[in-house]
Amino acid sequence: MDNPSEDSSQQQQTESSVKDDQRVYFVPYRWWKEAQDSAPSDGKSATLYAVASAPSYGAMKLINNIFSPDIAFNLRREEESLSQSQENGEVGVSGRDYALVPGDMWLQALKWHSNSKAAAKNGKSFSVTDEDIADVYPLQLRLSVSRETSSLGVRISKKDNTVECFRRAYRIFSVDTEPSRIWDLSGQTALFFSNESNDMIKDSQKQSEQDLLLELQVYGLSDSVKNKAKKDEMSVSYLNGSSLLMNGSGSGITSNLTRSSSSSFSGGSCEAGTLGLTGLQNLGNTCFMNSALQCLAHTPKLVDYFLGDYKREINHDNPLGMKGEIASGFGDLLKKLWAPGASPVAPKTFKVKLSHFAPQFSGFNQHDSQEVLAFLLDGLHEDLNRVKDKPYVEAKDGDDRPDEEIADEYWHYHLARNDSIIVDVCQGQYRSTLVCPVCKKVSIMFDPFMYLSLPLPSTSMRSMTLTVIESGSDLQISTFTITVPKDGKLEDLIRALSIACSLESDETLLVAEIYNNRIIRYLEEPCDSLSLIRDGDRLVAYRLRKGTEEAPLVMFTHQQIDEHYIYGKLTSNWKAFGIPLAAHGRVLKGSDVCSLYLQLLVPFLVQNRAQTDEHNFDRSSSEVRTEMEPDDKRVNGFPASIAEENAAEHLDMEFQFYLSDDKAITKGAEIVMNEPLKSTDIPGRLNVLVNWSPKMVEKYNTSLFSSLPEVFKSGFFGKRPQDSVSLYKCLEAFLKEEPLGPEDMWFCPGCKEHRQATKKLDLWRLPEILVIHLKRFSYSRFIKNKLETYVDFPTHDLDLSSYMAYKDGKSSYRYMLYAISNHYGSMGGGHYTAFVHQGADRWYDFDDSHVSPINKDKIKTSAAYVLFYRRVEET
Ligand SMILES: [Zn+2]
Repeated sequence: MDNPSEDSSQQQQTESSVKDDQRVYFVPYRWWKEAQDSAPSDGKSATLYAVASAPSYGAMKLINNIFSPDIAFNLRREEESLSQSQENGEVGVSGRDYALVPGDMWLQALKWHSNSKAAAKNGKSFSVTDEDIADVYPLQLRLSVSRETSSLGVRISKKDNTVECFRRAYRIFSVDTEPSRIWDLSGQTALFFSNESNDMIKDSQKQSEQDLLLELQVYGLSDSVKNKAKKDEMSVSYLNGSSLLMNGSGSGITSNLTRSSSSSFSGGSCEAGTLGLTGLQNLGNTCFMNSALQCLAHTPKLVDYFLGDYKREINHDNPLGMKGEIASGFGDLLKKLWAPGASPVAPKTFKVKLSHFAPQFSGFNQHDSQEVLAFLLDGLHEDLNRVKDKPYVEAKDGDDRPDEEIADEYWHYHLARNDSIIVDVCQGQYRSTLVCPVCKKVSIMFDPFMYLSLPLPSTSMRSMTLTVIESGSDLQISTFTITVPKDGKLEDLIRALSIACSLESDETLLVAEIYNNRIIRYLEEPCDSLSLIRDGDRLVAYRLRKGTEEAPLVMFTHQQIDEHYIYGKLTSNWKAFGIPLAAHGRVLKGSDVCSLYLQLLVPFLVQNRAQTDEHNFDRSSSEVRTEMEPDDKRVNGFPASIAEENAAEHLDMEFQFYLSDDKAITKGAEIVMNEPLKSTDIPGRLNVLVNWSPKMVEKYNTSLFSSLPEVFKSGFFGKRPQDSVSLYKCLEAFLKEEPLGPEDMWFCPGCKEHRQATKKLDLWRLPEILVIHLKRFSYSRFIKNKLETYVDFPTHDLDLSSYMAYKDGKSSYRYMLYAISNHYGSMGGGHYTAFVHQGADRWYDFDDSHVSPINKDKIKTSAAYVLFYRRVEET
């Protein structure tokens, strides 16, 4: 507004279409001054007027009020300036002193009153009077102003205003009883006196010959709550026109106010304490943006800044900025959100601007609230960068100077190029130390940051269920559930399982993953991460005796005939079933394999079988043949189709053994009972595929070795027990020394080579507003994942003093939480909301257009995604 180039356009708009932020507000002077005294902003020059009734109209009013004359008065300029009055203290400020203030000053004052009122409500020492509890309402008056020699003639015409507005104006501007004064801090009336403005009026033929229209938003002059009891009586008398000369403020009517035509205030009357509790409409998957915006729109210093006269700081020419579009878009939106009585705002204009400058956020897909936040902080910074010409700064080497000196140097270089409200409020500095693994060269740098992205270390545990198969003399299958560190390794699993199943010192465990009744992989690398094992996997651990290495481990995969109809034709093929079984054995010839297998199967024999059947096994060591009765359609119990296909093979056998590959998929050479196995066929591990005859399937209770539980079965109700980690642990993980990734090599100035250096971060300088991003989303090359870890973060006393590599002895390192951006659900979809702190222990849930109070005990959830802290000064 102070920008001179805007003055002319402003004046043209005084007629009617005054922009939101160019509105002039008419407020009680005392109300404004109270806020001003507590939070003084830049000194504004003020023009003081004494209000006197204009005689020409006054006479008419005396005749009869029923004629509804226009209200007319003169504003006579007084000599006293604002600064003089301030020196005189409160002297001379009466209840009939008013002020004309621009929109930004009004909003700031309103916010101040809102805050102090909230503080008062919560039992703080601040005193509050009834006058502070003024309704916020949208009375809008149109005044016609004409310039006379030393005063302004003001006329409030009934034809320009609605009946209700006119009536209220009547009460406010009736100047007969008491003198009143108006302080103009908006600079609007000064324009009427300037010559330039006179020319403007003459040029503008559309306007009436000597009058200019000034639109006033009247605030804080509604009728006090204390007069509620008298309300009806008064409104009657008012309508009768018999008590028109009552005081302008402090009494009268509050109800039945018709809404003025002002479009920016579409909500109902509301108390000042609810300021800023305005929702943002969802424009289609824009909750990510709404969540980030609400957190920023409740960031203490930023609110004051954007409700104020921030536009003079816009850097239109910054090539890194967005021509001020993002800053003004954000500022406009913030004003709407903080306007009293506002209904949910549709951030369409802002979304368009955002999409224009950051096309990645265009469209209606769900995005990341952290990404839009990072973009906004950066965009706002560049748009509001006070540095017009960034000096070229060459990074100096640290040499052997003390870190404090280098850090300050880096910081001053940074400030020389970057100076904005965002830098003032949100930026800190950390030290990063790189060490070359080869020449041990140490390099120290100091980088600014706008937020901290903390990893979520998994100190949490994971429960896993495995099936242990002990294939000793008596095969046993049992399941064990163990608890292992979630980020643990296979050796952790083996260790825990060994304890669980009381593994003997001469025993070992071989873990394998089973899929569709076949082993698809062995887990043998002790250092493999347990994250490679998913909850839905099925794992078997074979409990084997050590010291039997000379005897190969024989892995048996079982197959049986699977019959099904395809196009009405009965089709059959071999299909794996049951858990593969394993045993060490000296297998020299085919029959050794067979007897080893039969021995494994003994526990699964169906009881109550005829003795003869059991006899079969007694002589099974040689050759297993059966005396099966021929079937009409079947050959030795096999379906005809299989019999045909396998005509050359030994269909009379109960089991057929084949050599196979690691995954037991290909059927290799048949193992012939009486022939020795070739030595090449006997590696350390022998994979054998066993085809079962239908009769054998009946003979054994195969269900006993067919059920294999998943590693973790999430129950029908709820998920796995929640993992929990403290925010401090996340910070420690962020700061801990770590080797750089292979894609992130560092060019070592010592050896002049790219090296995989180790990097260590330390906090050096903390900002007033500390934004902490919890890295819930991981995007590895193949897997996108969201961690649902519950992060236990302090709400009142985040103390970072022990993490500071440097303390200046002045700053506080204690923070309290004031906003949270939440993410619910899976990645790529899901929903974002914001929790915002507003005074004492009150928190609000901003769920798009819906804003509701939330208990402070409910704000800490595993949905917390970005945390907003503000510094608490030590006292
Ligand atoms: Zn090096």
